[in-house]
Amino acid sequence: MGCMVKFRFSLPVFLLLSVAVVFFSASGAHAWSKEGHVMTCRIAQSLLDPAASEVVRHLLPEYVDGDLSALCTWPDQIRHWYKYRWSSPLHFIDTPDDACSFNYARDCHDPHGVENMCVAGAVQNYTSQLMHYKEGSSDRRYNMTEALIFLSHFMGDVHQPMHVGFSSDEGGNTINLRWYRHKSNLHHVWDREIILTAEKELYDNDMDSFQEDIQNNFTHGAWSDDLASWTACDDLLTCPTKWAEESINLACKWGYKGVTAGETLAEEYFNSRFSIVTKRIAQGGVRLSMILNKVFGHQDHHYQQVMATT
Ligand SMILES: [Zn+2]
Repeated sequence: MGCMVKFRFSLPVFLLLSVAVVFFSASGAHAWSKEGHVMTCRIAQSLLDPAASEVVRHLLPEYVDGDLSALCTWPDQIRHWYKYRWSSPLHFIDTPDDACSFNYARDCHDPHGVENMCVAGAVQNYTSQLMHYKEGSSDRRYNMTEALIFLSHFMGDVHQPMHVGFSSDEGGNTINLRWYRHKSNLHHVWDREIILTAEKELYDNDMDSFQEDIQNNFTHGAWSDDLASWTACDDLLTCPTKWAEESINLACKWGYKGVTAGETLAEEYFNSRFSIVTKRIAQGGVRLSMILNKVFGHQDHHYQQVMATT
């Protein structure tokens, strides 16, 4: 991935980004909704130990005032820019139709066959860049900022089951159907429809209480016993493969299963898939914090503390 471009988050550039956000937001094809990414990053940031938290604050541009989630959708906004077009294949993985498996050597490449250009490769790449943070000069800080933001975004994407989907239907993008009463496609159902329906119907459009519920599930709810297994990772550079395998398995078992193009998906699909979507957001956030605590801070103690104090 030698095409990393140095990028300074200066104010004029940010203004330019804002314009681009408005311009491109209608076209976002492969992405957890804004809400999915924001919740993933907020969960992660809430679980950082003090040392990691300090480094993250230091790397973020001043205008976000220490809020990582403010930039977590940035990679979706710039992927269509000429300068960042190289980053487009990093948001997903195409696997062979109906294989229901991910094989890094077989599947992690861009459409031209360039190796490592997929979301698992991107998580690996940006994690390994951040591992060198402590050796960096102040000039390298800008690359580190970009690496942090890309990592935070791609940890969300690698957990969205349909981001590791079948090649011929582009992860469900070409499976057109209806979500309740409007037109959508299977990829979008997992990116945003389920999340937005939940936010509206169950949380009265309040994303904070939605996120609180997700967090309660792993602090003292149904998933609290699973936290140790979610964060089990001996080698940060091979774990993304495991997380992508989980995604394609879920895509087969819950995403594609029983779905026919042209049909209407509604309550039944929502009710049976909602907890999978929230669990993937939780896992993405918890694991992002695990990576950041390992590379920047003093991990290993922190999760026990979270569990002990809640
Ligand atoms: Zn994305």
